[in-house]
Amino acid sequence: PRPVLYVVTPTYRRVEQVAELTRLGQTLLTVPHLVWMVVEDADACSPHVAALLDRLGIPYVHLASAMPAQYRSERYVPRGVSNRRAAMTWLRDQSPQPTGVMYFLDDDNTIDIRLLEQMRHTKKVSMFPVGLVADYLVSSPIVQEGRVTGWFDGWIVDRQFPVDMAGFAVNLSLVMASDALMPYHAGYEEDKLLRAFGITMDEIEPLANQCTEILVWHTKTKKNQPPSLRREVASHPNSNI
Ligand code: UDP
Ligand code: MN
Repeated sequence: PRPVLYVVTPTYRRVEQVAELTRLGQTLLTVPHLVWMVVEDADACSPHVAALLDRLGIPYVHLASAMPAQYRSERYVPRGVSNRRAAMTWLRDQSPQPTGVMYFLDDDNTIDIRLLEQMRHTKKVSMFPVGLVADYLVSSPIVQEGRVTGWFDGWIVDRQFPVDMAGFAVNLSLVMASDALMPYHAGYEEDKLLRAFGITMDEIEPLANQCTEILVWHTKTKKNQPPSLRREVASHPNSNI
């Protein structure tokens, strides 16, 4: 039996949004036993995201959870946190409680579907390398004899689990066993959540061939001008584009 994978994707309104969700959604569409949890940083679910999800025909949960205003003005904004918290709360509120595995995958990231098949068998917490992260271009656990013994990451600082958001998956049993939520603390979201789950280094399950393969990338899309500025430059002859 294949455990169900709950892929949690925060998203927000911008000109790149539909392109990102189309690309990621059409990747996820090819994976069975997967529920895509798309959570908008907005007061309500927007019709264009709802239409896209319906069109894809993928099993999905569509939620909205706006970032509280006070965090917007912080020097380092905790992007996508409100969204991910809402997804965890939704999972906990279901009856009967769902089983399977939860994975955070941002709307602009890129994943090899082989990794999704590997991570659905996560017993507690699995980890794997993420490409294109910060200056080192990879963030990964260091694995020796099948065990995670350390970290390769450009920003370890005082983090106990210095991993990227896309670098770990969690069995829902751990999610259900606590009421821990991701903190609104930019840079420490992953570390503090993983600490709250109370896992030890010995329990981490290294995937991607003992963390020797990069199967997910923290890709970033170049920001385009918002439409208000574009319209001053040119307006398209087909007025609905
Ligand atoms: N995001 C969001 N609200 C925002 C900014 C970002 O929900 O105001 C989402 C975004 O769609 C992405 C995640 O949070 O899924 C991380 O944001 P981003 O990709 O901008 O951050 P970066 O990858 O540059 O750290
Ligand atoms: Mn991103």
